[in-house]
Amino acid sequence: MIELRGLTKRFGANTVLDGIDLDIAEGEIVVVIGPSGTGKSTLLRCFNLLERPDAGRLTIDGLTLDLAHCDRRQALALRRRTAFVFQNYALFANKNALDNIAERLIIVDRLPKREAHARAREILARVGLANRETSYPSSLSGGQQQRIGIGRAMAANAALMLFDEPTSALDPEWVDEVLAVMKDLALARQTMLVVTHEMRFARDLADRVIFMEGGRIVEQGPPSELFTRPADPRTRAFLRKVL
Ligand code: ADP
Ligand code: MG
Repeated sequence: MIELRGLTKRFGANTVLDGIDLDIAEGEIVVVIGPSGTGKSTLLRCFNLLERPDAGRLTIDGLTLDLAHCDRRQALALRRRTAFVFQNYALFANKNALDNIAERLIIVDRLPKREAHARAREILARVGLANRETSYPSSLSGGQQQRIGIGRAMAANAALMLFDEPTSALDPEWVDEVLAVMKDLALARQTMLVVTHEMRFARDLADRVIFMEGGRIVEQGPPSELFTRPADPRTRAFLRKVL
């Protein structure tokens, strides 16, 4: 169980996250939707301290920390429990597909290179890129690069995977292959928090959909309810635009 309490983040006078409380069960697939500029990315980035919040308490996988004040050692402990998939893939341009995935296994988990490569090969196969081991990011399609981005996050074996609009930088032709990898993870009950505009993914795979606006959770529920009977007028207005 992941438990977040009172997450608050300001940029200057702008309160971007206004006391967010969020529990995520093990194996739960949670999708976050909402207008742009509403704090979705910041929420995800605070979860692994890519962004330092002003307040917030998080319990994850046996670790409890004060997100605003924790030290470097605790921040590292948190990062070991989370994995982030970025909109723009954020791969190492100077490393091939295999090494992009093996990197964390070698540096963070300190696996011997042979073991790290063996594990990275399994992951490449799982994301459908067994034949691209030695390819560099620049020679791969956006869809292939993002599948490696997800593979790299899978290597972390994290208690929580965070996806920040993983398909929105892709040409439409590559979206489905990336969603297929995410679906595979969802069906394997990898706990994940996903910001996406892909309402099909939300409808078919989310256990819960959260609608955020103005730095707050406005409404949440199973997709079958939130999409068909939204209670809040702001949710209704947003869904009218995207569904
Ligand atoms: P979303 O992902 O929902 O589009 P963001 O979390 O990216 O929203 O941004 C929420 C708000 O925080 C926006 O008003 C944005 O301008 C602001 N913001 C995000 N990052 C920064 C930053 N590094 N410095 C200042 N303001 C930021
Ligand atoms: Mg965003």
